[in-house]
Amino acid sequence: MLMRRAAVPGTEKHPAWALFAALLMLFTLPAHAGAEPVRSPYESVDACAQVDQLEFNGTLANASITEQVNLGPRTTGSNASAALRTVIHQTLPDWNVQNHTYTEDNLTFTNVVATHSNTPVNESTDRVVLVAHYDTRDVAERDPDLNRTDEPIPGANDGASGVAVLLELGRIIPSMNLPYQVELLFTDAEDQNHSHRLYGAEAWVGDQTEEDVNRTTAYIVVDMVGDIYLQMTHVYPGNFELWTTIPPLAAALGLMDTETDCEGNLGRDVVNMSISTGVIDDHVPALNRGIRAIDLIDIRFGPDAEPFGGYWHTHEDTPDKVSAQSLADAGRLVELGLRTEAWTLNVSLNENKEEPAAPSAPDAPDTVEEPTVEVYAVLGASAGLGLVAALILLLVLNRAVKLNPRP
Ligand SMILES: [Zn+2]
Repeated sequence: MLMRRAAVPGTEKHPAWALFAALLMLFTLPAHAGAEPVRSPYESVDACAQVDQLEFNGTLANASITEQVNLGPRTTGSNASAALRTVIHQTLPDWNVQNHTYTEDNLTFTNVVATHSNTPVNESTDRVVLVAHYDTRDVAERDPDLNRTDEPIPGANDGASGVAVLLELGRIIPSMNLPYQVELLFTDAEDQNHSHRLYGAEAWVGDQTEEDVNRTTAYIVVDMVGDIYLQMTHVYPGNFELWTTIPPLAAALGLMDTETDCEGNLGRDVVNMSISTGVIDDHVPALNRGIRAIDLIDIRFGPDAEPFGGYWHTHEDTPDKVSAQSLADAGRLVELGLRTEAWTLNVSLNENKEEPAAPSAPDAPDTVEEPTVEVYAVLGASAGLGLVAALILLLVLNRAVKLNPRP
């Protein structure tokens, strides 16, 4: 992960309230006589019907952490970086895997792009892009040992965890028979102390045609998700509509301590949307290109770590700080989103709201009522509004809790 979002005093609270306001609007607008229902391009899904089918294996993902760290620091241009590219290619035999090399600012870097689709791909085929940076930081500027701040970090969490989750998803996606294309984007030069640029993600965005952009329904970054004390929060900037798909998925998996899972058990505190953190990561170039993008990240690395504190960018970013459980929590969340088709568009925002019905000919067959394309709020399903309400409550509580320091 690159850096905290450039902040001005008080801005960390602002997005939470922007989210709050938006949620409030979503919650209240449908009550206003339905004249202007809020539309979302994402439709509700029945997550619980899919939970038993999940195959993501946290133990395998955790083994990848060790394998990657054993290669040595994967700094841009290093032999370890090239070796990891080879591992990525070998781990994805059912994918079309390509390297894309660029040189900018005297830095040569290589993205690895893997694509898979069970159906022929054309200009209108939906595409979901999952993203992780595979490079690791070349300096440890936050390490307490000032004699070692110039040395590269192991990157077990910051680097290897996102790659491990994507590789394990890559193992199981081909058998999911998803009705859309999935792309795994392994970015290089996300975390180099070269300049404050997201080289890999920016280069990928620069390669995308308008057609590519238009068929990309979601771009989801997975970064720093291995922490034993995993807690993913809302992150800004990020696409609001895409963010609203996350709580129902997380709740179904028992990853929210305010919600019961599909079995009726209260969840763990792994996903907490009442906390909003500003993070600049590989999602930002995509957002700037008009692609719906979010960043799934835990920027509090370690026990009781503050944002951008703990083991982040230190030599303590080692495999023992990462757990198979956390990798499974993050991986299953993404797998469930893929299986439930939560990240493809069901409603075109450009569609006309109402078209006057053409008078049907007297001998026309019985007209079939078209399903409405107006999705109230994002979630639609019965649990949806409850979750939105719960989110609003959480955000209100967050306002109160924020007055106190974190425990
Ligand atoms: Zn980093």
